[in-house]
Amino acid sequence: MTTAYQSIDVPFEFRHTCWFCGEPYFESYAFMPSPNYEHQAAPVLLPCCEECYGFCRTIKVSGLDLLRDKVKEKLHRKYEKHLQIGANWTQEELAASEFEGKALEGFKESAWTMFEIAKERVNYAGWPLTIDGLPIAGLTSRFQIEFDGIVYTSLAHAIEQLAKTYVIPQPYLEQVVEVVGRQRLGYAIRFAKTTYGYSDEERAASIVSLKNLLAEESELAPQNAASTGGMVVDLAEIQSLIIARIQVMPQAIHWALTHGVTTLHQLAEQEEAFFEYFMPESELVAFTYFNGLQVYFEKRENEPEWAASQDPNRALFARLTD
Ligand SMILES: [Zn+2]
Repeated sequence: MTTAYQSIDVPFEFRHTCWFCGEPYFESYAFMPSPNYEHQAAPVLLPCCEECYGFCRTIKVSGLDLLRDKVKEKLHRKYEKHLQIGANWTQEELAASEFEGKALEGFKESAWTMFEIAKERVNYAGWPLTIDGLPIAGLTSRFQIEFDGIVYTSLAHAIEQLAKTYVIPQPYLEQVVEVVGRQRLGYAIRFAKTTYGYSDEERAASIVSLKNLLAEESELAPQNAASTGGMVVDLAEIQSLIIARIQVMPQAIHWALTHGVTTLHQLAEQEEAFFEYFMPESELVAFTYFNGLQVYFEKRENEPEWAASQDPNRALFARLTD
């Protein structure tokens, strides 16, 4: 062996940065896979903050991506309460809330910052790992899933955390997601939250009615799709917007307009086509675009006045529905 350690390349702008979460550097963790399937000869040195360094020392895994995922899951768990702030409040609501007493006022002042810091750390993607300029093979992020602006390491991890956030029994949320599909996590949460009831029988009945509902939807889908035509529109004509902290991407709106999709109902019917179209870019992209579009259409439907007079794309929607 010529070197005792292999150091990953650290781009200039990331010197002094934790690869896992973006916090200031504390020490490098020497990672050796365990079990060592690939017969890696020397440990890989990864720059860590103090907290991630501590996490790393308790984790035994066979690969770097698994190590990253385990560290992220530990961060999620440790900062669970902070991450839930974003699901329970908007920044404006929190600022307008009338918490009284020293402790509660303190919460109000710091809560949003705590949420943002925790979110940035769990979402932090690191920089591409290379050693002497050569990419480290086999690192994957394809199991990651994003919901409401927060990245989870896998669907199972998302369900585990979201069940806690929305106070839904986890096995029930798992069942609902299995029925509606991972692309409709928001729908699954809304459904599960309002139907989990009090007994296993009630939950079983809800799952049956959900299956029936989805079966009806898919029967209606083909004829409705045929009856709505899309329009020709240039991507540059479309404006992106941010609603409830979620960015609605022009690419997603472009897809909707060119496919004649202008309502939540139509979007649900065309969900499969949407994902087929954007999946090649990455699951995260497809999911993020879909989520944005849902939020956008929800706002257009709930606030018709906003849709008619303030939506930056109102002229395009008017052209389509004329
Ligand atoms: Zn860190």
